[in-house]
Amino acid sequence: MACPSFPPPAQKITCNNENPFNDEGADIIVRSVTDNVDFRVHKTFLSVASSVFRDMLSLPQSEPQLGSGFSAEFMKDGLHIVTLDEDEETLSTLLRMCYPGWMLMDCGPLFPTIERVLAVFTAATKYAMDGVERAVRAVLVSPRFVEPDPLRVFALAVRHGLYEEARICARYTLRTPVLGKPYKPELECITAGAYHRLQEYHVRCGAAAQRVGQDVRWITNETWVWFECSPCRGNTAVVMAGERRKWVARWWADFLAEASNALRERPSGATVAINSEVVNTAVERASTCATCRSRAFREMHQFCGLFAAEADKATETVEVEFMPKLMVA
Ligand SMILES: [Zn+2]
Repeated sequence: MACPSFPPPAQKITCNNENPFNDEGADIIVRSVTDNVDFRVHKTFLSVASSVFRDMLSLPQSEPQLGSGFSAEFMKDGLHIVTLDEDEETLSTLLRMCYPGWMLMDCGPLFPTIERVLAVFTAATKYAMDGVERAVRAVLVSPRFVEPDPLRVFALAVRHGLYEEARICARYTLRTPVLGKPYKPELECITAGAYHRLQEYHVRCGAAAQRVGQDVRWITNETWVWFECSPCRGNTAVVMAGERRKWVARWWADFLAEASNALRERPSGATVAINSEVVNTAVERASTCATCRSRAFREMHQFCGLFAAEADKATETVEVEFMPKLMVA
């Protein structure tokens, strides 16, 4: 496990005076040797957050202890200095996360970029900051990072051995077709095998989600307009519920067939959610019938919430496979 080391020869040092590093009660200085920036912090918070710091801070601080503690030769303003290899941005976030949340109310965003997330995760692991590490892992798969680019975050998570997070990202990748996803440089971080297994996962999810539209046994309410519209009785089609055949308005049978195909390509509830393309098309078709027109918009919006949830439920139990040697024991 890495230990903080002694400071390098004196260079121009600046001080980060942002909250909470401007507190007069700070009792130790952490220095970024990469950027020559000092952070005035409280030992107590570092000790609570990190077993590496706790062990180091418990050592006698009066005598030089190369590679494992402090030296009286390296003091500033009466405070001992401990040097770390991380850059200022990484330390700024890492050290802040050792403090209680209420002390960070006036701080800027802790994680402006995903690169910062990964740098802080690596540092938190290095210094055995278990709580910080868990918090950073949650940030990695927060919607603001995953939704815009799930494949990228998937590759980064796999690369860092974060398989639970990779599984979350894999579910987000289902929102776009398996083929034709834009290239991401981060794909170079994972093996062709890992990417192939992601594609297999997508295909298995596609089959599971498609079945939701092909067999509507899960629909218990038959008072929707497409089941009971009289004018549409001259223009019906069949949908299957197990062995049973149900007669429905043709526009709705067409919708279900198209939705099923769409779910095979994009096996996510979002594919059949309100305002999705396939739903909007169905509502437009329903408007050609005066009876359906008066109810279709409202009822399709209600129905599609159920449909989307059922599609997501169908893919929930499908597992993403990782290479055995990469699997968490
Ligand atoms: Zn109708």
